[in-house]
Amino acid sequence: MTRTKIVAGNWKMNTNLDEARALAVAIAGGAGAARGVDLAVFPPFPWIASVRDELGGSGVQVGAQNCYIQKSGAFTGEISPWSLVGVCQMILAGHSERRHVMGESDEFVGQKVDATLTAGLTSVLCVGELLGERQSGAALDVVTRQLGAGLAGVDTGHLDRLVIAYEPVWAIGTGVAATPDDAQEMCEAIRRWMTDRFDEAGDAIRVLYGGSVTPDNADELFRRPDVDGGLIGGASLKADAFLAIAVAAGAVGV
Ligand code: PEP
Repeated sequence: MTRTKIVAGNWKMNTNLDEARALAVAIAGGAGAARGVDLAVFPPFPWIASVRDELGGSGVQVGAQNCYIQKSGAFTGEISPWSLVGVCQMILAGHSERRHVMGESDEFVGQKVDATLTAGLTSVLCVGELLGERQSGAALDVVTRQLGAGLAGVDTGHLDRLVIAYEPVWAIGTGVAATPDDAQEMCEAIRRWMTDRFDEAGDAIRVLYGGSVTPDNADELFRRPDVDGGLIGGASLKADAFLAIAVAAGAVGV
């Protein structure tokens, strides 16, 4: 099975409009150097359309960092995946900051995945264990529980628009990335979990690693056979660093 690598930047609650535009212009300008890689950025909600415009014909996709689970209605402050159709292509679900800062449950995250896929967009389901869970040997149980709930309602006809991001919480924003062996071990376990349930369609689902990826460690991480790219936080806010990570993914290939 060949899987095109993805490098995606999660800008979180960073950038004002001018900064977001400038970052998009810089990424669009350098994206051609990352051959054979799918690139995406996830700006804050209000900048999505402007970023999309600045990215122009560069091929870099745009996504949202969050969504609600209903099509429309009295849900003040929330954004429907259906409203994002034609505006962006992807939506994150279950990022660790949504789970652990905003208190989102595994089940709620699953409803977001379902809503996103039903709306016709790509869902990037983030899973990952806390430090204590890894230290106590529970990492795989936590990740498979999150996968089970996250994909409970998924229509198998939508699996070609599903991406999984393994992001150990202890590696996010800490400067301490998982070792390439640990990243591979969990990404492989995730793939096995998906192929057990979805056969070949499960094998085709791309599994990213996220957590303190930098231009220095990207190559080694992406060389592991079950690591299909990265979800990048801090380093995605600097065009040079993000593009260097993207080029590393391109150099490794499928
Ligand atoms: C993230 O927030 O998804 C992330 C991986 O952050 P960082 O790269 O900064 O660890």
